[in-house]
Amino acid sequence: MRVRKAVVVGAGIGGLTTAIGLRQAGIDVTVYERRTEPGRLLTGGGFMLWHNVFVALRRLALDERVEKVGSRIDFHEFRSDRGRRLARWAIAPESARIGAPAVALRRSALNALLLQEAGDAVVMGARFTGFEQDADGVTVRLADGTRDRADVLIGADGIRSAVRGSLRRGHDMAPRYAGYTAWQAIAELPGEDVVPTGTFFNLWGRGGLRFLYCRLNEREVYWDAITSDRVSASFDMFRKDKRAVLGEAYRDWPQPVPRILAATGDEAILPIDICDRPPDREPAWGYGRVVLVGDAAHPMTLNLSQGAGQAIEDGVVLSGLLAGEDDVAAAVAGYERLRRPRVDAMVRGAYRIGELGKLRGALACRTRDAFMWAFFGTFAKKGTYRLMMDVGHRPLER
Ligand SMILES: Cc1cc2nc3c(=O)[nH]c(=O)nc-3n(C[C@H](O)[C@H](O)[C@H](O)COP(=O)(O)OP(=O)(O)OC[C@H]3O[C@@H](n4cnc5c(N)ncnc54)[C@H](O)[C@@H]3O)c2cc1C
Repeated sequence: MRVRKAVVVGAGIGGLTTAIGLRQAGIDVTVYERRTEPGRLLTGGGFMLWHNVFVALRRLALDERVEKVGSRIDFHEFRSDRGRRLARWAIAPESARIGAPAVALRRSALNALLLQEAGDAVVMGARFTGFEQDADGVTVRLADGTRDRADVLIGADGIRSAVRGSLRRGHDMAPRYAGYTAWQAIAELPGEDVVPTGTFFNLWGRGGLRFLYCRLNEREVYWDAITSDRVSASFDMFRKDKRAVLGEAYRDWPQPVPRILAATGDEAILPIDICDRPPDREPAWGYGRVVLVGDAAHPMTLNLSQGAGQAIEDGVVLSGLLAGEDDVAAAVAGYERLRRPRVDAMVRGAYRIGELGKLRGALACRTRDAFMWAFFGTFAKKGTYRLMMDVGHRPLER
């Protein structure tokens, strides 16, 4: 029997994309989100969506609208902490070749757009607590005692997913801490010419430090300071605020890094310990009528800028399969079969890049700089594009 009713848990990027795909296919969807106010979802810094995301969003006719709320990236530039250029990827020709852009945007702008598109499907202040499934459907339980019945339950509730916990009957491994923290924020530009438009800067330093930044619009720049835990452990968080400790850690870095940090309000800085789940220890993403998408299924480190991108691809592929298949369990199994090789490769690739970023000693970092200078503009770019555009796995096949 065809899927008529779906429940999605979590109104993040993965859950909303899935809900929009299902709605467009004529399936009745309810999205339960534990946060109480839509505004409380619209927080967070900036991020990148690469070409593959726009190819996926085109399936939902959302690509142009999402592009409009962001800023196109034409170059991706890698530098050392002495300001030496290690590689510069020309992105504009790739956008033209692929027919889809790479864009930097506010996380909140994407969430607001998806939330608007999902419309009255979203129920706020509704926390999922458990489910039971049988041959005819799945019953979902919420914290206030409400129950709902559907043909399929989609867990899109993030890295510490409660749906995943229920699916695993309370027996699950904790996510793997990658050994570093990303401190992210959006700041007012500290001067008109400080950060050029259209370039994503990726700086790699000694001592386990990295710094990424990109202009979002005429007024704002977003940044991520990535510090290995050995560095973070030495931060004096008792007496100093976040901006002060980061200001010290990046004091000798080339401009505009110190200026950007100085222009950021302390309250805007959000530190997140970076985690993933190693694919070889990862159980199935679903069983029967229950299935996971996005970070609930496969959290990855931020190094390929693909976590949200893969959540969006999940939503497009899964909603397409559920709309076209009579057998829910077959659609759930088909989704994982189709998606898993690609996503596992991304999780592994992102983790490996993160390991390079943890190097501390001057000699090791100089060797890494030489390696990046020799290979990042050529082999690394080619490999990243192959992975991203998924030659061989046909990510969006339905
Ligand atoms: C510093 C940093 C930078 C990043 N940069 C990028 C980037 O440049 N590009 C990119 O593609 N990705 C990036 N990512 C990854 C990206 O942010 C995530 O992969 C993405 O947000 C995952 O989306 P999701 O919908 O799966 O989960 P989430 O965004 O975590 O959404 C889960 C939702 O479920 C809700 N929820 C949780 N539990 C319950 C419950 N019990 N009941 C009801 N609702 C519940 C939550 O409130 C939340 O709204 C970055 C991540 C970090 C940490």
